[in-house]
Amino acid sequence: MARFRTLDDLGDDLGDVRGKVALVRVDLNVPMHDGRATDLTRIHAVAPTILELADAGAKVLLLAHFGRPKGERHSTLSLSLVQGDVERVLGREVMYISEIAGPIVAQALQIMRPGDIGLLENTRFWPGEESNDPELARAIAANGDFYVDDAFSAAHRAHASTEGLAHLLPAYAGRAMERELNALEAALGSPERPVAAVVGGAKVSTKLAVLEHLVGKVQHLIIGGGMANTFLAARGVDVGKSLCEHDLVGTVEAIMDAADNAGCTVHLPYDVVVAKEFAPNPPSVRTCNVHDVVADEMILDVGPQATEALADVLKTCRTLVWNGPLGAFETPPFEAATVALARTAAALTKEGSLVSVAGGGDTVAALHQAGVAGDFTYVSTAGGAFLEWMEGKQLPGVAALAN
Ligand code: ADP
Ligand code: MG
Repeated sequence: MARFRTLDDLGDDLGDVRGKVALVRVDLNVPMHDGRATDLTRIHAVAPTILELADAGAKVLLLAHFGRPKGERHSTLSLSLVQGDVERVLGREVMYISEIAGPIVAQALQIMRPGDIGLLENTRFWPGEESNDPELARAIAANGDFYVDDAFSAAHRAHASTEGLAHLLPAYAGRAMERELNALEAALGSPERPVAAVVGGAKVSTKLAVLEHLVGKVQHLIIGGGMANTFLAARGVDVGKSLCEHDLVGTVEAIMDAADNAGCTVHLPYDVVVAKEFAPNPPSVRTCNVHDVVADEMILDVGPQATEALADVLKTCRTLVWNGPLGAFETPPFEAATVALARTAAALTKEGSLVSVAGGGDTVAALHQAGVAGDFTYVSTAGGAFLEWMEGKQLPGVAALAN
């Protein structure tokens, strides 16, 4: 990936930013319940960039989307609803501005002093946001002197406030974006070898592109979760009533061939945890060899012997990228393999022998459940953007920041 400009380049490019207007794309798409934000992680993630720019004397205008208003104003999706949370996290006053472009924004800027922070309205109230309308992008840019993108999670979409603006103003990665891009580069861009990838989760079909990309990139591909059942079926294992995409057996065979040709070892479980019903601690739960699964059983986790062997694989690796849990971790006792391997990865990371990067909604939840999210080198909360990056796609919001 080409290098990108960061806040460290601002001085060289623009001189003193005092009094200049920074248009800062952030992710404020916080989960809401009964009109209140329930998790402020995303606001905390962008706070350092906002405060750094404000402390340098820029007038900071925050741009963000919120929910899916589909190009129309909805009072329940106004960013005014998170203004108070943004203020609390930043410890500063934040002025809510009901537009994203035009004279209302220009007037607000006349009132704002250097170092003040304004929160613009939900970008997706305007249909031109998601269609990346150049006219909308130009109207937004007209009120700014430079652009900072700190929303990696939105970088897989070429929208007016991401890709569009970056081409119209001097553009920089914010601190959260910079950290994310550096971590991803260390994991799959120019990683230290050997590299292991863990790919788990429910279905092969949602992660085909990820698997196809990874076999050419990593030395060890560890398959877990429901998708391992399709791989096992392709190897001739009878997986009983496990979740299995039998129609994808041919596709999976092709992936295993591609892995062989690329020198990538595919690791499948050889013992598994099975049960006759999918419920917490079912009486029928047992551990067995993959060849001993009976017709009315389903595979719900990787077995303890295979998990230990996978831990040994990680001990030989320098880099790990992880997406998808190894088992149905939300339901005990099917979290055991995911928790054990996550703890191994965390311990190796702490010892300094492994760079570990993980992402995916359920994966992040599983790492928190294992109590090790903080011990990985980097945990991405970017969802769709993280997966597209794992597919080897060029993200438009990132490409637009490249030198
Ligand atoms: P992520 O959100 O991290 O990308 P996925 O959404 O792809 O992960 O997969 C997570 C889901 O996969 C979880 O809900 C988990 O219960 C499910 N899962 C994992 N292993 C199995 C299995 N053996 N059988 C059925 N579901 C599974
Ligand atoms: Mg998921």
